Amino acid sequence: MVKPKTEEEIELLRENAIIVSKTLAEVGKWVAPGVTTARLNEVAETFIRDHGAVPSFLGFEGFPAATCMSVNDVVVHGFPSDYVLKEGDIVSADIGTLYKGYNGDSAYTFPVGEVDAATRKLLDVTKASLYKGIEAAVAGARTGDIGHAVQSYAESFGFSVVRELEGHGLGKEMHEAPGVPNYGRQGHGARLPEGLVICIEPMINAGGRGVYLARNGWAVHTSDHKKSAHFELTVVVRHGHAEQLSTFDYIESTGK
Ligand code: MG
Ligand code: MG
Repeated sequence: MVKPKTEEEIELLRENAIIVSKTLAEVGKWVAPGVTTARLNEVAETFIRDHGAVPSFLGFEGFPAATCMSVNDVVVHGFPSDYVLKEGDIVSADIGTLYKGYNGDSAYTFPVGEVDAATRKLLDVTKASLYKGIEAAVAGARTGDIGHAVQSYAESFGFSVVRELEGHGLGKEMHEAPGVPNYGRQGHGARLPEGLVICIEPMINAGGRGVYLARNGWAVHTSDHKKSAHFELTVVVRHGHAEQLSTFDYIESTGK
C-alpha cells in the first residue's frame, strides 16, 4: 500500500535524514587514498551511534555491516572490507539509520583523490539525474514520471540505468511501497500522493546496464566492470515541488 505520512511522522523521518546526511559528510572527510572501506564503515557506525541512532543495515536480511561501501564497478551493497582505496577510485557510501522508530536512508558516491574526467562526469550526471527525479516527484505524478526523468537525463550522456534495483517508500520500514524505478514511462506506475516519503536513488553505469550478483549474495557488479555511481536522497512528495529531507549540503560544504 502506498501510504502518505502524517506531518508528525515526517518530522521523525527528517530527524533520521539529518543524521544520515551528517554521517555521509563525516565519511566524506575520511575518503582518501590509503584508507580502507572498513575504516569508513567504522567512522559511520560510530557517528550514527553517537547520535543515539542505530545503523539499520546491520543485520538487515543478514547484511554483515553498518553501511554499504561499493567501490568502482560495485553498483550497490558492497561489504566494507580491508580494500585500500587508491587515487582515482570512487566509493559509494550507502547509509541507513533507525531512530525513534523511523528510518533514514541516503547514499553518496565520493571520488578518491583525483579522478579522471570520464569518472567525474559519471558522478556529476548521476547526481544531477537524482535532482531530475526529485523535480518529477510531485503530488499527482506517478513513479514512471520519476523514472523517466532520471533515465532520459542519464542516457542523454551515453550512460545506462541499472534496472534490477530501485528506490522505495520510507517510514517505519526501510523499504515500503511504492518501488521507485530509475527508468520508466511518463504517466505510468504508482500515483504519488501528497505526504508520501520516498527515496530516489539512481544507479548509473558508465558502460552497459548489465549487472550481476557476486558470490557473496550481496554485492551487485557491472557486467562489463566499468564504474557505477549511486546517489540517494529522501524526499516528501508535495504539491508543486518535493521537499528534501536528506541533503548533500553537509558534504558539499567540505568541497567533496
Ligand atoms: Mg540507501
Ligand atoms: Mg534506499
